[in-house]
Amino acid sequence: MRAAIRAAKRGLCQGEVPIGAVVVVEDKVVSSGYNRRAKLQLASAHAEMMAIDKACKAFGSWRLPEGAELYVTLEPCPMCMGAALNARVDKLYFGAYEQKGRSLTAALADSNLLNHKTEVQGGVLEGECSALLTEFFSGLRQKAKEEKERKKSDGKNGAE
Ligand SMILES: [Zn+2]
Repeated sequence: MRAAIRAAKRGLCQGEVPIGAVVVVEDKVVSSGYNRRAKLQLASAHAEMMAIDKACKAFGSWRLPEGAELYVTLEPCPMCMGAALNARVDKLYFGAYEQKGRSLTAALADSNLLNHKTEVQGGVLEGECSALLTEFFSGLRQKAKEEKERKKSDGKNGAE
């Protein structure tokens, strides 16, 4: 999970929502990815998709080796959970929980789609993973507030 957090921070440096993921096979990190949605303007450019695609390329197979694990800093969305099932990820660990229980992670993991089940464990280094996101979004809110105040004072000056 530490490696996934490092990947998330790489995204953060590029102004992306900081979400990172790594694929681990036999205790080795084989690929990593971070959210690149803003940069690529692709709805599918999630950290997990990046990491899974890279791992498949590395193994030359859409089916990841038995025992493949996916670590991601935030509970995956249905698309990424689907990709993990499709790539036959055996175990998925995530850090922060998606808010308000909007995620279908558990339902999908258990649904026996493709005759494959992925074991899921949430809350791994949850504090660190969710702090990354909270700090990012409060930074954005702060910026928006400053921008608003700046515009307000510009407007006032214009009226004088
Ligand atoms: Zn996703």
